[in-house]
Amino acid sequence: MGQTSKGSRAEIIRWGEKLFERHLVSGWGGNLSCRFGRSRYLITGSHTALGFLNAKDIVEIDARGNAVDPRRQPSSETTLHLAVYETTDARAVVHVHPPEIIAYCRDRSVFVPLSFEEEYSLGRVPVIPHDGPTVTDPAPVAEALNRHPVVILQGHGTVARGGDLMEAFLITDLLAEAVHCRLVMPDETKSPA
Ligand SMILES: [Zn+2]
Repeated sequence: MGQTSKGSRAEIIRWGEKLFERHLVSGWGGNLSCRFGRSRYLITGSHTALGFLNAKDIVEIDARGNAVDPRRQPSSETTLHLAVYETTDARAVVHVHPPEIIAYCRDRSVFVPLSFEEEYSLGRVPVIPHDGPTVTDPAPVAEALNRHPVVILQGHGTVARGGDLMEAFLITDLLAEAVHCRLVMPDETKSPA
């Protein structure tokens, strides 16, 4: 722990602010985590605002999701984050609710980027069916993240993995840009007025 835990808390605060500034999350939505020891994790606490975190909003948990300090309540998506760490080589996970991604992918099963660079970095992004405010079945999400850097939860948001929080942030931001690109593309299926 010590400096490592302290440094990781600072990183979570930093990238939470960036996600908020980029309009990738609002209110009390979303959650961030990172692995900082062999089986130790830091995750944002339940009902915390990602854009305005301070060190006490970040909860240290073990591999079972139990808070090291039992007075602290980790995110309601803790099971999802731990499933991703168990299934992939992720060292950081970003889950947010970007409005354009949610709207554009509401009735799709896959998102295909328009630009070459976005497709190179993101691939074809799966949209995983989903039916509630929290992920009750994390296995398909974690399994998809073994093959993709980011997945879309239908009607909910995104989950990205990275070697660190910056990578998971950049992948999320790039996906938001790729969806924005599709949204501003002229729709050639509409007949001219
Ligand atoms: Zn969520």
